[in-house]
Amino acid sequence: MTTSNTFTATAPSSAPAAAPVLGGTLKFNSSDRFLRELRRRVDAYFEKTGRARRDCPQMYFKTASILAWFAAAYLLLLFVATSWWTIIPLSLVLGLAIAAIGFNIQHDAGHKAYSERPWVNKVMALTLDLMGGSSYLWDWKHNSIHHTYPNIEGQDDDINVGFLGRLSPHQKRYWFHRLQGVYLWVLYGFLAIKWHFFDDFYNVAVGRIGGHTIPRPKGKDLVVFIAGKVVFFSIAFGIPLLLHPWWAVLGVYALAAFTSGVVLSVVFQLAHCVEEADFPVPVIAPDGSQRMTSDWALHQVQTTVDFAPRNPVLCWFLGGLNFQIEHHLFHRICHVHYPALSQVVEEVCREFGVKYAAHRSIFGAIASHFRWLVQMGRPPKLAPCP
Ligand SMILES: [Zn+2]
Repeated sequence: MTTSNTFTATAPSSAPAAAPVLGGTLKFNSSDRFLRELRRRVDAYFEKTGRARRDCPQMYFKTASILAWFAAAYLLLLFVATSWWTIIPLSLVLGLAIAAIGFNIQHDAGHKAYSERPWVNKVMALTLDLMGGSSYLWDWKHNSIHHTYPNIEGQDDDINVGFLGRLSPHQKRYWFHRLQGVYLWVLYGFLAIKWHFFDDFYNVAVGRIGGHTIPRPKGKDLVVFIAGKVVFFSIAFGIPLLLHPWWAVLGVYALAAFTSGVVLSVVFQLAHCVEEADFPVPVIAPDGSQRMTSDWALHQVQTTVDFAPRNPVLCWFLGGLNFQIEHHLFHRICHVHYPALSQVVEEVCREFGVKYAAHRSIFGAIASHFRWLVQMGRPPKLAPCP
């Protein structure tokens, strides 16, 4: 695909609005030929099949199944399980249910891809507050920041795990990153716990996510933020403490949170932090501003990788997050369509000469993430003397 070198606009109108950033707004190349063709072909798919982009019956059935799975695991832990050999597996099952809620219900709803009715999206997005997150902050962190600027250092907060991990070649390297291919997998498990007790409160207190300033929640948003935390801490600790000793409640919380943390983190890393994904950097335009040389749609494909597209169990459980190329291009379309759309997108990429990267299996994707971590942890090779 060819791209012009003019820098006259931000992301095209179909792309998410560029997020406000410190020092201005990072713009993409204004060319939208690739995106227009992608949209034309996807529109043709929906016209031909007559399927609805949102409010898909299988999505409502899936939501009921996952919420029942969560409720069953929680109630069994609360009222039935008494021995370690039932408590430990049920805690893991609860952690997987939390991840499934995030992948399927909250993620689609947060992107307004669940329903045509705004209130349905709002209600379903609240499942994140139920799990200890914040639908308000997620909208900024994921929708506005990550989806506009994936893999751009200093912009995309999802590739920033703090000084303990180096996920991008443009991040500072410390000597201990040499071992990150081993220890980061364990640290991923603590990300959900950090999120529950620190991240949301810190982001609201400072009014920032990474390098981006965000408005603090006010009015209704503040009420939802506080109520969400009260409900989560009641479900996770308050109610169980009425029936069980503190060490058992803490143990179940730790196991479930660790499980959901590892699963959520790894699945998101497999889409962007693998050998096949690019980490482009802005260039300085003649007017002194920072610009991306790629257009928005091309950037999404270059920085994102699919995996396990033919695995029916993962396609169900991951809520389309193994089709992140399609998700990044069409985040307002319900994820149940992604397997079919992946064929359309791959075809258009081939025609435009754009690299479409996908791992056949989740093991291939995990191996690629491991190799990427090892590569990012190594000292940079010195250029040979002339
Ligand atoms: Zn998303």
